[in-house]
Amino acid sequence: MKILEKVKDNTFLIVITVAYILMFLIKPDLGVASMENSVYYIKEMILIMPVIFILTALLDAWIAKEKITKYLGKESKVKGITLSFVLGCISAGPIYAAFPMCVMLHKKGASVRNLVIILSSWAVIKVPMLLNEAKFLGIKFMAIRWVLTVIAIVVFSWIASKIIKDEDIGKKEEKTSGLTLNRESCMGCTLCTKNYPEIFGMQGKKAYIKSFDAEVDKESLSQTILACPVRAIHYNE
Ligand code: SF4
Repeated sequence: MKILEKVKDNTFLIVITVAYILMFLIKPDLGVASMENSVYYIKEMILIMPVIFILTALLDAWIAKEKITKYLGKESKVKGITLSFVLGCISAGPIYAAFPMCVMLHKKGASVRNLVIILSSWAVIKVPMLLNEAKFLGIKFMAIRWVLTVIAIVVFSWIASKIIKDEDIGKKEEKTSGLTLNRESCMGCTLCTKNYPEIFGMQGKKAYIKSFDAEVDKESLSQTILACPVRAIHYNE
């Protein structure tokens, strides 16, 4: 059973490993090129992700839930859509940097639709990207693509919001006497297990609640909660 659980937890990694092995066997040149590309991106992620985690934690601490709900929540309508486009367009960095940020925004009340808009505009209509596009392909090309892409994002974000429910995001929650750990959101950074090893442990690549009782040191717990980069831990007395 344990082996099956391990396989389930690491399905993605196993599929990638098998794909690499097959590539090396069938076309070694392609295998070497893929490996070099992967190493490049892993190095990039190692450099960027800690900064993103810190930024996400700071934004989480600085911006009140009410504000996110008001400006990016379900009732924010056109204001929320516009703000989401602006946030996505002015952002910097690779798209995977947006995911922990979106987890945090969703927890504070941002709607599925606005998250889709932020992610999509971050990926395809960022300002630096548009400037380069205009330089190489011309302003007319850039402008037409921008207009069509914005229309597509508005339509697809609406469709996505009809299909994806709030409960679908981060649905794997573990709850013990008021302490909640969202395993779906957990990025496996192990910070909570280092900050409060008596309560948190790692299972596969995700944190879990080892044990928890009323005698908890509230100060340490609250520091651990604040340190979680994706706000996966919550405590209600
Ligand atoms: S729950 Fe723990 S391991 Fe998971 S992201 Fe938060 S601090 Fe890191």
